[in-house]
Amino acid sequence: MIEIAVVPCLADNYAYLVKGPDFCAVVDPSQAPPIEAALAARRWRLTHILNTHHHLDHTGGNLDLKQRFGAKVVGPGKDAARIPGLDIGVTEASGWQIGGEMVEVLEVPGHTRGAITFVMGGDAFTGDTLFAMGCGALFEGDPAMMWASLSKLMQLPGATKIYCGHEYTQKNARFALTLEPGNPALAQRMDAVTATRARGEPTMPSTMELEKATNPFLRVSSAEIRAALGMQAADDIAVFAEVRRRKDSF
Ligand code: ZN
Ligand code: FE
Repeated sequence: MIEIAVVPCLADNYAYLVKGPDFCAVVDPSQAPPIEAALAARRWRLTHILNTHHHLDHTGGNLDLKQRFGAKVVGPGKDAARIPGLDIGVTEASGWQIGGEMVEVLEVPGHTRGAITFVMGGDAFTGDTLFAMGCGALFEGDPAMMWASLSKLMQLPGATKIYCGHEYTQKNARFALTLEPGNPALAQRMDAVTATRARGEPTMPSTMELEKATNPFLRVSSAEIRAALGMQAADDIAVFAEVRRRKDSF
């Protein structure tokens, strides 16, 4: 059995504690103090630090946590030089094991060249590649690359829980509604998210099924979205690129 705790960091980042029978990992620690407090509250001892990509708001706590707990840093092997304190570089081909549990590594370039998603059983940690109703900005990739990465994530079973790197959900929902106001699943999710945030709770996790039903970046074949963009006959990558372009200035 795996237990997961959501740990808010910085202004709107999420790190995650993943506790198994004989390991405790943190995914994307922006900073050490909130992670240390969350560990202490549960009397958990950190064994591993997992990074989805090199950005400082996902790796800023690496060195402090590594020094304090002797935890091993695990991250994208193809971006080894940019991951502070990296001990174990993983690739899609290598996968990885933690305490006898198989961890699937999906290489999902686009937000950064080296971005990866960790899949542990039915839980996927997508960093800044896939957000609730959004996707990461294309800092180091192009639309074709990001679309291929999101398409790879869409192969995960619908029940897969999605844990992403930021609480951007409400703003993403507002943007999604500009393109697809007639999507009943989206309207319903907007209401649910508004209530969750009003209680001050995180909107994580999502599920792949819910993302496919409401995330405009995964819904480039939606007739309503294509009509909104005037791109009924365009190919998927072109539609994705236009949705991304509009979100960049939303
Ligand atoms: Zn990032
Ligand atoms: Fe980030």
